[in-house]
Amino acid sequence: MIPGYKLANTKERVFLPMTHVSAAGIDIFTNVWLVDKTQDFETYSNGLRIDNRYAVPNEPRVPYPVYQRAAIDGQPEWRSQAAGIVFHTTESDQAAFEAGQIRNLKRIGEDVLRFVKRNHCYHFLIDRFGQVFRVVQESDIANHSGSSVWADDRVIYVNLNASFFGIAFETQTQKGQDLASATAAQVHAARVLTQMLRNKYRIQAANCVTHAQVSVNPSNMLVGYHTDWAGNFPFLELGLNDNYTAPPAAIVAFGFDYDPTFVHATGARIWQGLSLAEDQIRSQAAAQGLPVQQYRSILQKKYKEIIATLKASAAKENSHAT
Ligand SMILES: [Zn+2]
Repeated sequence: MIPGYKLANTKERVFLPMTHVSAAGIDIFTNVWLVDKTQDFETYSNGLRIDNRYAVPNEPRVPYPVYQRAAIDGQPEWRSQAAGIVFHTTESDQAAFEAGQIRNLKRIGEDVLRFVKRNHCYHFLIDRFGQVFRVVQESDIANHSGSSVWADDRVIYVNLNASFFGIAFETQTQKGQDLASATAAQVHAARVLTQMLRNKYRIQAANCVTHAQVSVNPSNMLVGYHTDWAGNFPFLELGLNDNYTAPPAAIVAFGFDYDPTFVHATGARIWQGLSLAEDQIRSQAAAQGLPVQQYRSILQKKYKEIIATLKASAAKENSHAT
C-alpha cells in the first residue's frame, strides 16, 4: 500500500515515495564499554581512546521533530536522543604526512582543534594520527550540518545539528585529486568511535552518512551545498553499509534537485544513489499522473512549510529566552 498525505491548502492528494532503497541490512551492534575515565582521557573495550582536553559544552539537545515518511502532513514526532552520525572533512591546511613534518603536523592539528572548539563545529575530531578528540559534548548540539535532510526507513530528519552527531576527519580534498582521503590511523579511530556511538545510542547503520549526502541549499533547492566526503568515504572499513548507494532523502522526500557542479564533486559511488532517487521521483510522479516538475514542486512546498514552522518555533524560543 502506498501511503499518502494531504496538502493543507489544496484538495490534491499526494503520495510520498516509500520505496526508500536503504543500503542498510540488519543492524549489528558491537558491545563496547567504558574501561577507564580520567579527567582528560576515556578508554573503551574496543580500543577507542578519547582525549577530553578540548571538550566544550554548547546548547543542550532539546527535543527535535521528525516527520513520518508515511504521513508527512501529520504531526511531527518529537525525539531527544541522537539518531545518526554525519561525517565531515575539516578542509584545513595539510603538511605532508611524513616523519620530517612532525612539528608542522602537530601545530596544524592543534590550530584546527582550537578553531573547532571555538566554533562548536563537531562532536568529535580525528586528527591525522588517529587521535580522537571530544569537542562538543554528546548531550549538546554542534554546528555541523545546518541545512540538511536525511531519512531512514521510517522518518525524515530536517536540519541535522540537533539529531545527528558530527565527526570530522582532519583532511583536505586536494586540488586535482577530487576526493578526500583518510590515513589508516584515522580509519581505525573512526571505526571504533562509530562502534561506541552506535552501540550507546542504537544508531542505525543507515543513518551514518557524509555531509555531501545530506547538505542542501534551501535558496535554490539544490542538494550538495557542502561536498565534503562526496566520494571515497570508507563506509565498509568502518563496519557500515555503503550508504552512497542510498537515494538522497532531500531528493525523494522534498523534490530537491542537483546540478553538474555536484555531480563533478562526487565520486561514482554516489551516482547510484542519485539515479535511484531520479527513478523514484519519476515513478511516484507517474503514479500521481503528474508531470515530474509539478510533483517536485509539491514536495518542495512541503519542505518550505516545514522550514518555516521550524524557524517560527526557534524565534519563539529565542524571544522566551531573552
Ligand atoms: Zn562538513
